[in-house]
Amino acid sequence: MKIKIDIPSCIGCGACTTVADERIELENVNGEMKAVVKKNDFTDDEVTEMIEVCPTDAISKG
Ligand code: SF4
Repeated sequence: MKIKIDIPSCIGCGACTTVADERIELENVNGEMKAVVKKNDFTDDEVTEMIEVCPTDAISKG
């Protein structure tokens, strides 16, 4: 399953990276830390968990 991250909504908290391992990394985007998807391949359970842990609702199924 693929996800989308709404970059303007992302505050770079890193919560999703604890679920995604190396498939999402925090990177400096125009001076702010943002979650960047490196490999868009997740299980349904991982997607559900990432949507739950994201404090700004930046993650959606995609
Ligand atoms: Fe950004 Fe949400 Fe991931 Fe935090 S959990 S880094 S706000 S996408």
